[in-house]
Amino acid sequence: MPPRAAPDRLRPSQREGDEIEILTFTGGPFVQNTLLVVCEDGRTGLLIDPGAATPDALSAARDRELEIAAILLTHAHVDHVDGVAEAKAETGAPIHLHPLDRPLYDNVAEWSAFFGVPCEQPPPPDVDLEPGTNLVFGGSEFEVVFVPGHAPGHVMFVSTALPVAIVGDVIFRGSIGRTDLPKSNYGELMESIRSQILTLPAETQLYPGHGPETTVGLERGTNPFLLHLNGGRWA
Ligand SMILES: [Zn+2]
Ligand SMILES: [Zn+2]
Repeated sequence: MPPRAAPDRLRPSQREGDEIEILTFTGGPFVQNTLLVVCEDGRTGLLIDPGAATPDALSAARDRELEIAAILLTHAHVDHVDGVAEAKAETGAPIHLHPLDRPLYDNVAEWSAFFGVPCEQPPPPDVDLEPGTNLVFGGSEFEVVFVPGHAPGHVMFVSTALPVAIVGDVIFRGSIGRTDLPKSNYGELMESIRSQILTLPAETQLYPGHGPETTVGLERGTNPFLLHLNGGRWA
């Protein structure tokens, strides 16, 4: 199936002047979502988890004459970084990664052979992501939140103005991130979901690394992997 650009999703403003647009480009054997965030100023773009569909995301950024201010990585699994080299070469934007995922990142060419997906070793990260800090680009602000478990240095990016979180492979619509991979930890993942994701407002839109968007409320109420967190009852 060829990579496909999802239709533009323009979210309604929560507050006067706060508006971002999140474009999803899907591709590769892992059907991974590469996100292009158009910031509040309409000119600044963020590339999040540039994977197999990176060429489509870069093309959209060129069409809109966006300046890519950052390459943000939720974690360093091969399907989320196999477009980083191309994205960096075209945009020169700084690569942001949590230091605990550096061992994965630095060996991604080996991991890619393990998964049977060829991947050029990307250039080293430029910026260490620090949980608890806020990133501001083009008038849009995101908090870096630590959500380990699927990967040891996994983070998510939570808008400080809108009910939007970019969650990587922590939670999906009706599912959760794999923890059968080396350096994954099921207990940590469930604690990350319980304490950092399910505590967000119910209307919060979650943009995962695979599959369709969802909301915190929908996952609280229907995700079978989370049922036991609520004493076996649907929320
Ligand atoms: Zn992953
Ligand atoms: Zn993934």
